[in-house]
Amino acid sequence: MAMLKKTASERGRAWIELDRQALKNNADVLKSLLPPGCELMPAVKAEAYGHGGAIISRELNRMGIHSFCVACASEGVKLRRSGVRGTILILGYTHPQDFDLLRRWDLTQTVLDYPYALSLNSFGKKLKVHLGIDTGMRRLGERCENIDRICEIFQMENLKIKGIYTHLCAADDSSDRGMEFTEKQIRSFYGTIGRLRDRGIVCPKVHMLASSGILNYPKYAGDYARVGIALYGVLSTSADWEKCGLPLKPVLSLKARVTSIKNMYQGEHAGYGLDFTAQRNTKAAVLSIGYADGLPRCLSNGAGSVLINGRRAPVIGRICMDQTTVDATDIPDLQVGDEAVLIGRSGSEEITAMDLAGQAGTITNEILSRLGSRLERILI
Ligand SMILES: *Cc1c(COP(=O)(O)O)cnc(C)c1O
Repeated sequence: MAMLKKTASERGRAWIELDRQALKNNADVLKSLLPPGCELMPAVKAEAYGHGGAIISRELNRMGIHSFCVACASEGVKLRRSGVRGTILILGYTHPQDFDLLRRWDLTQTVLDYPYALSLNSFGKKLKVHLGIDTGMRRLGERCENIDRICEIFQMENLKIKGIYTHLCAADDSSDRGMEFTEKQIRSFYGTIGRLRDRGIVCPKVHMLASSGILNYPKYAGDYARVGIALYGVLSTSADWEKCGLPLKPVLSLKARVTSIKNMYQGEHAGYGLDFTAQRNTKAAVLSIGYADGLPRCLSNGAGSVLINGRRAPVIGRICMDQTTVDATDIPDLQVGDEAVLIGRSGSEEITAMDLAGQAGTITNEILSRLGSRLERILI
């Protein structure tokens, strides 16, 4: 039986490596764009975009970051159970049956709109909240022009309002329409805060920027910047990346093993549906990763490739749930146990999450956030 190479690490079937220094670098680079006094409030929802919610948040805690946002209460509870300290803001909906979790785990809930404020208030016990303001996205938040209702929310006796925020939905769009819309959102938001002040209501913490806002509108930051994708060292698309020009470094690499090597004769088929036919005598390498791990199935049949020993090996046939086969005919010195890099570097070659997103017709946020729970996460 072939043994694992000495150079190959102790890791098992398929795993994610997280680069601690890249994370620190990205936090520093992004913080340096923001006005003094504005803190990063990393978006660690969806397991920190697939990286691993607890492992990333604890590492950020160690770097002195103490504010986070998540999508839902269960994510917040999971972070607390793994020892994450500081403010944890839930950006989305919590069902009233889970309101007690907010108190038990010291989570801060977003007020989604006026009716939701009534629902939170009727819980009957004090809850920490940030008030969402809708300035044009039409997703979450009370409409910014409804000043009377917003004031009423501030009067509700069980809501401890710790912050107020909006979300920009075209901050990555540098067309005239996109920029005009974003500027209008920013004016509306600060206009609302001004009108509240006129009525004697001083807003607590104020925030509005996500990654593209930090890159394009940093001076409007306020107290927190809810950074997500950029903190992980990638942007949503390659086009965003090309115009950004910041020294951000990808935090995540995705790797698996060569589990067996199949020598195929010219004319033989491989895989489900016999999609692949060997055009030459082919050395096929079977890898221990599949679409259940988050590898998009649409990368089948040569649409995607992996790196082994610094060379590219295209996917052959259909990606399976747990396994993928690649054409490794041109890989020198191929052995069972070799590392296959699906995202990351090998020798002088690199595959980025942005490459994968382009091949799969989506954005990196989706590729990363769908990386599976059975991948081991390792901080290096
Ligand atoms: C996900 C999310 C963010 C982070 O967005 P990125 O574009 O990944 O930086 C910020 N704010 C809200 C409300 C979000 O839902």
